[in-house]
Amino acid sequence: MTIALYPGTFDPITNGHLDIAVRASRLFEKVVIGVYDTPSKDLMFNTEERVELAELSVKSFTNIEVKPFNGLTVEFASKVGAKAIVRGLRIGADFEYEREMALMNNKLSPEIELVCLMASLKYQYLSSSRLKEVARLDGDIYDLVPEPVAKALKKKRENR
Ligand code: ADP
Repeated sequence: MTIALYPGTFDPITNGHLDIAVRASRLFEKVVIGVYDTPSKDLMFNTEERVELAELSVKSFTNIEVKPFNGLTVEFASKVGAKAIVRGLRIGADFEYEREMALMNNKLSPEIELVCLMASLKYQYLSSSRLKEVARLDGDIYDLVPEPVAKALKKKRENR
């Protein structure tokens, strides 16, 4: 079975992430969304919440699953049997970041390929950090995220 790992922070998962996961699920027999447990970023959602929101968002896609992970991405890719790591590219800066990361990953595990998919035009401007900023300021985020995420963001706002 050809398996791909789509790793990231997913804090929270957006329609841009979902678009990449679904497109990858047409190229690979199985896609594992890997939710990175300890990114060096301030998080709005803990790992359990990020995994749950991703699971709810992909529940209608039978060949996409969600798993939390720690440690090296390439090691987790090997653990789930993935031959490829999928990432989404929006702007030039994403490319530079991915290029550097891919070189390091290639040194660590040359058998795992990086597959980058271009972000769809309508999601090019969408990032989790921008989304959280807009949500905190009560902006309309309903067509940018799956429904469970919109609800979770609303709940966070109300509990503030
Ligand atoms: P990371 O912290 O690893 O960058 P993110 O959750 O921010 O994790 O992103 C995971 C992956 O999804 C990255 O490859 C990122 O470029 C991609 N991505 C993020 N937002 C979008 C979007 N709107 N369209 C396409 N790809 C995206």
